[in-house]
This record gives sequence, structure tokens and C-alpha cells, in this order.
Amino acid sequence: MKPKRKVIMAKEVGFCFGVKRAINLTRQALAEREEVFILGDLVHNKRVTDELEGKGLRKVEEYDNEKTGTMVIRAHGLPKAKISEIRARGIEIVDATCPIVLRAQEAAQTLERDGYQVVIVGDKNHAEIKGILGALQQPALVVDTIEELHEAKADYILMRKIGVIFQTTHALELCNKIVNEMLMMCKEIRIINTICRPVQNRQDDAIEIAQRVPLMIVVGSRTSANTVELAAICRHYNPNTIQVQNAEELLPEQFVWADVIGIASGLSTPEDLVEAVKVKALTYDAETEPSLVTV
Ligand code: SF4
Repeated sequence: MKPKRKVIMAKEVGFCFGVKRAINLTRQALAEREEVFILGDLVHNKRVTDELEGKGLRKVEEYDNEKTGTMVIRAHGLPKAKISEIRARGIEIVDATCPIVLRAQEAAQTLERDGYQVVIVGDKNHAEIKGILGALQQPALVVDTIEELHEAKADYILMRKIGVIFQTTHALELCNKIVNEMLMMCKEIRIINTICRPVQNRQDDAIEIAQRVPLMIVVGSRTSANTVELAAICRHYNPNTIQVQNAEELLPEQFVWADVIGIASGLSTPEDLVEAVKVKALTYDAETEPSLVTV
């Protein structure tokens, strides 16, 4: 008789509250209004975007030519000046910006008001970072690697009195490394920790699980930055980490050898997709009753 395969599930899976709120606001807008559109995808999950588009949500790649209807602002936010400009054209706004992202914008404004050069540790191409930049009066410095920090120093862009915030979905470990380097370059540093607590909790939990299982599976879209980052963090602690988008993608040869499997998920992964991966991991070729350990 084969031994039971076990699954250790992360404490929290499924959408974070910011994503849930954005989906609910969009559903409500679709039920109450006509001509609802959005810039890009609301979440990095095809099943959810298909459902919303099926209810009439129109995805646009740019909104400069839109003159009527209602625009949903995603959880990542949008620069304030852009929102005002869109409103001025007569377009209604449903603002689904996550309150934690708004707090990051306010933190950057506080640092700027207090005379610090604002430095954002994050991806300059990410919508959230563009929203934070758009909330400021002066240009801010955005760095995502130690190399970028050194380049800014070499180009005399990095000042000696800086105020630092973080992309809300960034890993604290990465931010710590960059901040340590800043300490050697700047005279005064004020830090406001804007990392989202649900993100950090999930990362801590996933790291803890990854270290005690032979195989770690991270479930979520390959276009979701936080899922890709979560998988990279787990891989750092456990090289046997794989990322799958759904149960169909999970191949038997990837997991049948493991007697214990850890499972974690990104913030925009629906809970039932994670559940389906768990069921496949537990029941595929199982000759005995599968067992589940939830920690
Ligand atoms: S990850 Fe955090 S900041 Fe981003 S939408 Fe979810 S709750 Fe909000």
C-alpha cells in the first residue's frame, strides 16, 4: 500500500480583500450602468475577466478617445491628474483603488511635504507605481534593484535625505537588501513601510511551508507580478518549487514523487482553482484515503 500523500495548504488562499472589493464594485457598476469600461485587466485571471466581459465590461488599451460611459479604476489605482482629466470629459468614475494603495500614495505625499526626496522601491512600469508618481508634485526616484540604486548614485540623482516607500506587493526581503545599501549612501533616511500586510503574511507563510516540504506549488497566473514573486521567494528556500495556473497544467510527473506538497497562491487566484490543484495532488493515483494538513 502506498503511503498517503499529504498537502500543507497556506493559511490564506483566494483573492485578497482589495481584489475582492474591485471585483464587487465592477459587478455592481455592470448591473447598474451602461457602457462600463476598464483600462487593462481588472485581475490577472482569465476566468474572472471572461465573466466580467461576458456581463458587458469593455477592456480598452487606452482611454484618450473615450467620451461617454463609466470607467472602473483598478485596485492598482491611477494618477490623480488622469482621473480628474477623465472626469472632466464627462466620464463617470468607479474608483476601485485599494485603500492600501491609497495609503502608499499618501505616504509618498507626506514624505514629499516633509522635504524628503521620495524613493520608491518598485517596478517603474507597474500601474501602482505610476499612480504613486502621479500623486506627487515632484518626480520621484524608482529603483527595483541594487544596481539601479548605484546607477542613480553615479548619476547624482540620489540625494542625501531620502524618504522611502515600497511597492505594496513587494517582498520585504528584497526591500531590506535595497534599504541596507541606501544606508551606506545617504545621510538621512525616513522609511514608511507600505508593504501590504496580507501580501507579507502570505509570503511569510509560504516561506515557512516551502522550507519543510519536498515540493512547493504556487498557483496563479504567470502575468500576475505578486504570484511570480511569491514563486521566486519559495524557490529561493526550496528549489523544488513550481508555479501552475490551474490543476490542468499540473502534470503528474511533477508531483507524484512527493509525499508532502505545500500549496500557496497569488492574490488574484480564485480559491476554487487552488482547491482543484489540492484535490489533484491528493487524489491522483492515491490508493488510500488522501489526507490534508491545514496549518
Ligand atoms: S495586494 Fe494588498 S494592496 Fe494589493 S489589492 Fe490586495 S489588499 Fe490591496
